[in-house]
Amino acid sequence: MTTITNHMPTKELQALDAAHHMHPFTEDAALAKKGARIITRGKGVFLTDSEGNEILDGMAGLWCVNLGYGRKELAEVAARQMEELCYYNTFFQTSHVPAIALAAKIAELAPGDLNHVFYAGSGSEANDTNIRLVRRYWDVKGKPEKNIIISRKNAYHGSTMGGASLGGMSGMHAQGGLPIPNIVHINQPHWYAEGGDATPEEFGLARARELEAKIEELGADRVAAFIGEPIQGAGGVIIPPATYWPEIQRICDKHGILLIADEVITGFGRTGNWFGSQTMGIKPHIMTIAKGLSSGYAPIGGSIICDEVFNTIAGSGDDFNHGYTYCGHPVAAAVALRNLELLEEEKVLDHVRNVAHPYLMERWQALSDHPLVGEAKLAGLMGSIALTPNKETRAKFASDAGTVGYITRERCFANNLVMRHVGDRMIISPPLVITPSEIDILIERATKSLDEAYAKIRSEGLLKAA
Ligand SMILES: *Cc1c(COP(=O)(O)O)cnc(C)c1O
Repeated sequence: MTTITNHMPTKELQALDAAHHMHPFTEDAALAKKGARIITRGKGVFLTDSEGNEILDGMAGLWCVNLGYGRKELAEVAARQMEELCYYNTFFQTSHVPAIALAAKIAELAPGDLNHVFYAGSGSEANDTNIRLVRRYWDVKGKPEKNIIISRKNAYHGSTMGGASLGGMSGMHAQGGLPIPNIVHINQPHWYAEGGDATPEEFGLARARELEAKIEELGADRVAAFIGEPIQGAGGVIIPPATYWPEIQRICDKHGILLIADEVITGFGRTGNWFGSQTMGIKPHIMTIAKGLSSGYAPIGGSIICDEVFNTIAGSGDDFNHGYTYCGHPVAAAVALRNLELLEEEKVLDHVRNVAHPYLMERWQALSDHPLVGEAKLAGLMGSIALTPNKETRAKFASDAGTVGYITRERCFANNLVMRHVGDRMIISPPLVITPSEIDILIERATKSLDEAYAKIRSEGLLKAA
């Protein structure tokens, strides 16, 4: 076999990709006809593809490359760690320095008594761990029947059996016999799409109180935990009304329900604080982390666990019968630690709060003047715009959900901007290090793409409300 390199013609790479590489969340036969876009390198906020295009990555990969691409410091740490100790496990009464140092650092950064880290290889795995943790916790407390976890429709908590069950994506539940037992879903706090005539404040309260109704219906002695993303990411960057999270916190406290904040996207600076829970003013018992933990330079995730839950399980007199070969993988842990240090040394959170967020906010919100845009929202550096045929009524399109979003996404792609669509919502989550002049490029390409999409949608007769 010939060596496959960056220098092969795109068509040949695409053919090999189609022949042997099955893609996640993809209709592979359709992709094979079109050919995947082949990404060859990255630097800062820009990617290069096999045709030499320079693409502004408005999604930081999959919400993860927070420090931007091509950081030598992280490559060097990985190489050094591979030479020193490439791998060792943490199962059988052993530990190693990268796992220890990273756990101590995470505990330092995490608020309150979130002092304990259980490692995983990804966010999905960490949420599987969380299911085990909360059920084990109540088990040790003598309440094994307190095992139901309440989540939300349109939540994203990963793609393993546990993660996808916690998630509320109907398309995922439709395949493979999901959700697993004793996971139930309430409605999401998505005012723009579902709020009707209520004010956002009223709607946020009403949606939070669905949790209380569900707990009362099931009985608090059956409910182990509630899980939510402080800001829903993959569901469409849905920033809940200000009334929502304080009410969820009150309800969890009142009924003795553990609160799990899935911080896989919102952790490590994305919202301008170390954790989205701080931005939303909540105090979870467990946080799920991954993605920005290593800025995507190495696969690593985990659960940050409060003293009470940790001490209960740790002191149960029995092993916690759960773990992954790569729990606290030394190379991934060393890279993640250096990533966190760089976030601090380079004052990246200050940059998000004082420079990037305010500037992007001003330019992003101005997009709501575009005829296709119903609202433009931004928290820290995660943003969304709702596409609509009628701004006043927040109408949905008559076409299948996602048709207009997909057209818009394709225009972005053609204009060398990665902006994702979730249904007919466009979303961004750029590297946290993005500068004002790069934000100008992002907005310029987004505006051009919206203009082109608008023209296409009109000419195809798609500008019709449902
Ligand atoms: C991406 C994501 C996950 C899953 O993480 P993986 O590393 O893809 O397994 C879980 N929760 C949230 C909120 C995510 O955005």
